[in-house]
Amino acid sequence: MTAPSTDMPIDTIPMTPFALISGSAQWGLRFPDDVLEPGVSVRERGLRFQTPWGVSENWQVIEVSGEGTPDGEPRRILNVFAHGWPIDSIDHEAFRKVAWILQEAGVQKILADSTSGSLNKMLKPGDFIIPFDVLDVSQTRYSLSGKMTAACQSTQLFCPQLAGLLQDTAEELWPQPHRVVGQDQQLVFAHNWGPRFGSRAEANAYRIMGADAMNHSTGAEASLAREIGACYVAASFIVRWQDGILDTPPADSSDLHAGLRHSASRISLRTMIRTSLTQSCGCHQLRTLTAREDVRFAQGERGGTC
Ligand SMILES: [Zn+2]
Repeated sequence: MTAPSTDMPIDTIPMTPFALISGSAQWGLRFPDDVLEPGVSVRERGLRFQTPWGVSENWQVIEVSGEGTPDGEPRRILNVFAHGWPIDSIDHEAFRKVAWILQEAGVQKILADSTSGSLNKMLKPGDFIIPFDVLDVSQTRYSLSGKMTAACQSTQLFCPQLAGLLQDTAEELWPQPHRVVGQDQQLVFAHNWGPRFGSRAEANAYRIMGADAMNHSTGAEASLAREIGACYVAASFIVRWQDGILDTPPADSSDLHAGLRHSASRISLRTMIRTSLTQSCGCHQLRTLTAREDVRFAQGERGGTC
């Protein structure tokens, strides 16, 4: 195991409204270099930031020329590898470290890519999916604030404006015969912290509860994005059926993943290049911060209990 790099410098969090959380969709690539997208370069690599819960590593700033942006202006995209997970340990707090950094950076638009397992016999390996809702029975454990002072509504946990743009981009770039499944099919994502995959019993339980796919990242990120008032969309592709969904032995997904990761990475990058800062979607209005005084008043009214 590699020792923590505590003697390395801490970087200043750059300000930008755009963030791309890289996940397993990009594993095996040097991103964004290997995607060879015109007008894209890396301004800073290997950044590490301090958070209230410790250091978060493996960040970079991607610079995009005005070619392709909706306002014709260059932009910077804050990018973290592997959802912010450390390489040498299990750290479920990584999600709130990432969200805290995005909040400090002033991020308003977030895309996270990933791979996922299918809980639905009609969703098959190779499908590019844009989820509509989340099933996460553990969603408050790693809250950003640690307090019940933010009313976070669960309406449209995935931004419909970003989802529409992502679907348009995916339909241009996702290789056939694989399919793009957009928000109109209202797919539900279940969250499993991992690293263990869901068991056969868990997969069937989530399927019966209404979930269509599951992974280790999307549920936690959707909740935290709402906590910071940002728009969030998940770009995922199915690499396998979860154990127990089909009566077949598990298949090796490595060739499928290797064949689709370039397209998935290009779709993520191009979506973040194309997105505007519109607030017409209304996502930012779905979090309401409660004043500390209101909480105290409510406690007094109930005789100090809640
Ligand atoms: Zn939105």
